[in-house]
Amino acid sequence: MSEIFNLCDILIYHRYWGNEMDNQTDMFSIINIKNESPDKDVPKGVKLKKREMWCPYCSKPVIFIKDKTHGVKRCPYCNISDKDYYVKVVNNNWL
Ligand SMILES: [Zn+2]
Repeated sequence: MSEIFNLCDILIYHRYWGNEMDNQTDMFSIINIKNESPDKDVPKGVKLKKREMWCPYCSKPVIFIKDKTHGVKRCPYCNISDKDYYVKVVNNNWL
């Protein structure tokens, strides 16, 4: 009997860690890849410093970096350009 229980334990263990790994992968992609639904506004209470813009895809304040090749500025994290519709919308209030 104890052997059967051990086998079950091992299966549960593997299943648990399998799911855990998936969850971590999902978390990772949420943090590092563009939001599915970009922010429409800068969240209340957020104060942007000089030169900072709100990246609606990363949901954080970033300093957009000049892309000399394309003549635009880009978020250093997700690479979205400041010509993007939602980047304009979310930063519109104070531009
Ligand atoms: Zn970004």
